Amino acid sequence: MKENLIDSSVVLFEVRCRENNLKITPQRTEIYKELLKAKDHPSADMMYKRIKKNLPNISFDTVYRTLLSFSEIGIADIVEGYGEPKRFDPNIHDHHHFRCIKCGNIIDFRCELYDNIEIPEEIKKEFYVTKRRVILEGICKNCSKK
Ligand SMILES: [Zn+2]
Ligand SMILES: [Zn+2]
Repeated sequence: MKENLIDSSVVLFEVRCRENNLKITPQRTEIYKELLKAKDHPSADMMYKRIKKNLPNISFDTVYRTLLSFSEIGIADIVEGYGEPKRFDPNIHDHHHFRCIKCGNIIDFRCELYDNIEIPEEIKKEFYVTKRRVILEGICKNCSKK
């Protein structure tokens, strides 16, 4: 992400923190900035390893809890997953995912058709849909080369 995009996201971060009475600490700011830079939908563990370079005294638990609180206040997403460690997404706008079943890489893509995908009647009857995300699975370029 470009530097100015990070700046405007940090403004959103500060606004959301204030709205939700979450203190803006240097730790939280650092974790948020690191997440914004991430293109790989990192797990808490991956984030922890990156954050530790700048904040050697931080604990895994703090990183994990901070990421969860980011998703609670709507500045990060938790990627849908089943039984795997949670993966976090700094991109809170409409988008879809391609997931590689070999390396577990998750790649963002945009598709207007998918954004407006028809909700099946049986779902509409029973549930209130708040988000539409399509997940495509397969083998990524890197893995198919091997
Ligand atoms: Zn792959
Ligand atoms: Zn994403």
